[in-house]
Amino acid sequence: MKFGITLLIVALVAISEAPGYASPPPTKDLHDSRPATPSRDFNLPAWEAQRFKALSNWPPAETTPPVDITHYDLDLTFSLADTTVSGTATIALTWKNAATNILHLDLVGLTATSVRKATGPNLGYAQTATGLDITVTPAPALNEVVTIKIDYGGRSRAFYVYSSASYTFTEPNDSRYWFPCRDVPWDKATLDMHGRVPMGNTLVSNGVLLSSNTSGGWTTYNWQETHPLATYLMCASIANYAFVTTPSAVTTLGWYVYPSHTSQAATAFQHLGDMISFFSNTLIPYPFDKYVMCESNLGGGMEHQSATLMGAAIVTAGLGYEWITAHELAHQWFGDTVTLSDWRNIWLNEGFATFFEAVWHEHFYGPATFDQRMVTAENNVINWQANHVDHPIYDPPPDNIFDPMEYDKAAWVLRMLRDLIGKPVFDGAITSYLQAHTFGNASTQDFQAAMEAAYGSSLSWFFDQWVMTGTGRPKLVYVPIFSSTSTGWLAQIDINQVQAAPTTYRLPLEARITTTSGDVTVTGWIQNRHDVLAFPLASQPLSLVLDPSNKMLGEVTQGSATGIPVDGQTSKIPLRAFPNPFRGSTQFEVPADTESHGIDIIDVQGRRVREMLLEEGTGWVNWDGQDDSGRSVPPGVYFARLKDRAPALRLIRLGS
Ligand SMILES: [Zn+2]
Repeated sequence: MKFGITLLIVALVAISEAPGYASPPPTKDLHDSRPATPSRDFNLPAWEAQRFKALSNWPPAETTPPVDITHYDLDLTFSLADTTVSGTATIALTWKNAATNILHLDLVGLTATSVRKATGPNLGYAQTATGLDITVTPAPALNEVVTIKIDYGGRSRAFYVYSSASYTFTEPNDSRYWFPCRDVPWDKATLDMHGRVPMGNTLVSNGVLLSSNTSGGWTTYNWQETHPLATYLMCASIANYAFVTTPSAVTTLGWYVYPSHTSQAATAFQHLGDMISFFSNTLIPYPFDKYVMCESNLGGGMEHQSATLMGAAIVTAGLGYEWITAHELAHQWFGDTVTLSDWRNIWLNEGFATFFEAVWHEHFYGPATFDQRMVTAENNVINWQANHVDHPIYDPPPDNIFDPMEYDKAAWVLRMLRDLIGKPVFDGAITSYLQAHTFGNASTQDFQAAMEAAYGSSLSWFFDQWVMTGTGRPKLVYVPIFSSTSTGWLAQIDINQVQAAPTTYRLPLEARITTTSGDVTVTGWIQNRHDVLAFPLASQPLSLVLDPSNKMLGEVTQGSATGIPVDGQTSKIPLRAFPNPFRGSTQFEVPADTESHGIDIIDVQGRRVREMLLEEGTGWVNWDGQDDSGRSVPPGVYFARLKDRAPALRLIRLGS
């Protein structure tokens, strides 16, 4: 799912237009209020946020499910006039718990009128606030296949009826509002949809269209999805649609749009054929029987399996929202082909779709566009973290499953992982992961295992700090230190991680060093709150930039001590130190003509850590590496300055 068009637009779609039957139809065209520069705001509209409030957490996938549903057959009438859904659901399942003969199905807001097996008398059932408790007789044996038929109907909260288009929208768990089901992502099943709609409308659902028949003012569409799908990906999208196809070597490809939008859609979706070929070649071949997008007044898009629901604002925006087109298409692999094992793993859907929309841009428009997309994502992370209580990507609070940590930070995690293990290894591991879980489910642990298998080493530290437990982002303050050596030159980088506790990051870092003979790019690792990296050089270093290509999610600042020049050349500095860098202690040579009465030792934050007084005629002063209270100062960069005399001498204290 993507709510991609700013809070303003989402509010127009989802609050003032409001969902479903109780609300007025749209009063303002989205296109008019679209901002010039799309930005993302994932604040959920109030009505949607409400859906999450009742939850204290997202439950883990069942380890011993009571049944396994294998097929839904929904024979339904969608009445646009009174906004009801009614008909018969036929559900085939395998019994997995012989200790009981009670079958619970989720169903909310709709009333069941009859429950029976495919053949045989009616079954007893109780309808509660959460669903149906059906007494199956005789009691099924373990692994017995049971088929249950349920007649039901009513006004559905998950069926959104507007004058322009009507559609079901259920992510994450509103499918129970339009059909009885096990409304959990880990119980995937195939689907037959027999949907009756008023004549003049087209009903689009998952899979292949087998037939459509009109009689008595109604048209019945029979769609069949033979690839298992999660309940939140089952759909009915209904409107007076024009269907436009576009060439593809991969599958039947096209879009259902309002007849007045066909030419605009051709512009907006002009790269769809290239896109699906690119993803098919890069990931695994597109696995479904068709891919279509269905226009609606949704803000953003929703990746229903093989039948994405797409906002009108995207259809009419030229190429302005191509990133949403790519995002929703990427979901067909990440979310649909391989479905999250439970909602704690939402980043496997949204982070991946966000990253691969950037990968599409990298492929089609070039690396600079990829970098630009990642900068946008980084800004979303920074803005969100500045105003919210942060949480790890994995297992977010219930009403945070669609916030920028799951989209943008998660996309950055994948970008950094790709850099870490290398693009060919990463691409191969993604393909293995998709192959291993095709038409099934996967967890973060499954994904980590696929990456580790390809990398050949544990990535626990990476997943821990970025996904499982880490919050926030790195904030690095660094100071370059240049010195000559007996064989050449030495560039050192003193790096402090100054982000708030608790996460201390292990990071590979690039630095670009400008030397008298050109630029050199070097890489080093940090893993402590304070580290000093050292790079021997053949030429004299002149300047240094850490993370010059913005490959790390976080902030990098070059530090300078207050009032202390960062120029490290020694000729103008009255003090000299031997040795420097040093480990235990160092000695200052004090100029004979000094009028200063002391030496201050200052750390990189500009704090004086030690004051040493000079007696007249002092030639040499020893610093024992301790501060004023007698504690050894940690390794790092310090400055020594004669009182009242700038500039200062840069000192490097090495670790033991
Ligand atoms: Zn999405």
